[in-house]
Amino acid sequence: MFDKKEVDALSAQFEAKTPQEIIRWAVDTFAPDIAMSTSFQTQSMPLLHMAVTIKPDLRIFFLDTGYHFWDTLIFREKIQHEWKLNVVDLYRDSRWDVFARQNTRTLPMQDPNLCCYIHKVQPMQKALSGLRAWISGIRRDQTAERSHAKILELQDDGLLKVNPLLTWTKRDVQAYMDEHHLPRHPLYERGYRSIGCAPCTIAVGSDDDDRAGRWAGRGKTECGLHTDLFKHKTLNEVKDQFVLKPEEGK
Ligand code: SF4
Repeated sequence: MFDKKEVDALSAQFEAKTPQEIIRWAVDTFAPDIAMSTSFQTQSMPLLHMAVTIKPDLRIFFLDTGYHFWDTLIFREKIQHEWKLNVVDLYRDSRWDVFARQNTRTLPMQDPNLCCYIHKVQPMQKALSGLRAWISGIRRDQTAERSHAKILELQDDGLLKVNPLLTWTKRDVQAYMDEHHLPRHPLYERGYRSIGCAPCTIAVGSDDDDRAGRWAGRGKTECGLHTDLFKHKTLNEVKDQFVLKPEEGK
């Protein structure tokens, strides 16, 4: 529908638009072939709130990795119920079940890139196949990798990634949360300012970067959903990035 040149031009124009204007454009252009993803952490709430205000039945993908804090799962249920969200839980492919069960306790530490690939990257790739657009909540101020992202990114397979909050800062998120009285993840007040899976998240101090508690001390800052890893569709293309070398289904 759009070629790369058109997407780049639109993306440049969108730098001056509000997140709501970008979401509205994406919904008007792609619905029903569009979904957003969320982790239900505190900083995810503004985008979720904006998106379902614009399109209440928007499909919302939640990666149920099996490693979440109970607090996250309970918070997710509460928000889904109160906001009447159309949440779709995504799980690892069953071909990994034997390997994942045998390595449940050690995998996040032994090979977090493979663990994220199995529990996040592959399920999201599968859920998005057949859709035309994916709304994500990344911001440029979060990681070095994200600082180079564009508001619209066209993948080789034709999927358009839409990043409406890219130009927002932590302060913008806070201001929106306050203005709309949005609920915070229950662990937020205990120092968990960026929350992923329990084995890979620790609380941080008030002077620390928000994401300092993610994979702390392990040289990893991204799960792979927002890196080049996501563009590769088969295990063979990416397996040299993993410590373990399992075959799917073995
Ligand atoms: S964040 Fe940790 S536990 Fe969750 S999928 Fe990635 S490595 Fe596994």
